Amino acid sequence: MDFASDNAGGASPKILEAIVAANSGFTPAYGADDFSRDAAARLSATFERDCAVFLVTTGTAANALALAALAPPWGAIFCHEDAHISDDECGAPEFYTNGAKLVGLHGSHGKITPASLSDALDLYPRGLVKQVQPAALSISQATECGTLYSLAEIADLADLAHGAGLGVHMDGARFANALETLGCTPAEASWKAGIDILSFGATKNGALACEAVIVFDPERAADLPFRRKRGGHTLSKGRFLGAQMQAYLEADHWRELARDANQMAARLADGLTAIPGIRAPWPRQVNEVFVVLPGVIDRALRRAGARYYDWGTRGLTAMQAPGADESFVRLVTSFATTREQVDAFLRIARSAAGG
Ligand SMILES: *Cc1c(COP(=O)(O)O)cnc(C)c1O
Repeated sequence: MDFASDNAGGASPKILEAIVAANSGFTPAYGADDFSRDAAARLSATFERDCAVFLVTTGTAANALALAALAPPWGAIFCHEDAHISDDECGAPEFYTNGAKLVGLHGSHGKITPASLSDALDLYPRGLVKQVQPAALSISQATECGTLYSLAEIADLADLAHGAGLGVHMDGARFANALETLGCTPAEASWKAGIDILSFGATKNGALACEAVIVFDPERAADLPFRRKRGGHTLSKGRFLGAQMQAYLEADHWRELARDANQMAARLADGLTAIPGIRAPWPRQVNEVFVVLPGVIDRALRRAGARYYDWGTRGLTAMQAPGADESFVRLVTSFATTREQVDAFLRIARSAAGG
């Protein structure tokens, strides 16, 4: 019963098989191989547009490189105050941009609003030499709260950002999970809504270690080959990244993996919220479930060996915040989560609740 994160499980067998199959023979190095070329072509086909694609091994590298393509060292990057780029990447975006400033914005459920972006833009006037200059907006889809921006919400934010001369980045570590719920095309969920550069996650959704920086406007990609190499993310045996991305996209495997993860999260969320005393501060939309647990249930689950994280309560209103003997926790499912794991977890929670 490991719900600590979507990377607690292993890799999808189909992707591992693709890595093994790519192992034989000789290929050009540094991503000039057919696996990588084909992976890039498939991503362009998936997104219905000629994209510049840069495969890397971590989401942190994908985000940091994407932001470096959008922001100069004296740039401001607007993001949610709880964004992964701000809270969980050890300063990589600042490092790869050579010092751009991340400006964290408030917003409930992990989402930035046009009003908060517009207020922030007012604080960073263009041309004022003592201030960093507005350069980029970065949003996470799904957000760090497991919530989603609607396509209209993305378009509103992107319009505002573009109007102010910003580039727009999406951290899509859970893009596949988001797409399953949104029920739209990859193009609609990204460039058609105004995204300029997407960090397209695959690792959390079943790859061994593979993420793509997808640049929808090739002009913005001009420096990225050098930035990636300089950042130590141009793999000499690049074929193994290409092979992972090929297998991820093949026959919509990525969609299937995300659907499984989301379904397990739905089962978990429905089961938990039916138990008296357990409440969810916001609706489950992808493969993450956030709940306030009574202490007696939390303790019983942990005694039984279940793994999950206590979560920061900054995003909760006073009404939603956990009481004296309650915990606010995050539970994450993945393609590797089984129905048995979810049901065992629910049984323990129900019996601890006395039902
Ligand atoms: C996991 C995650 C990433 C990528 O993190 P890495 O550990 O560097 O691969 C990026 N953004 C979000 C929102 C994530 O949850």
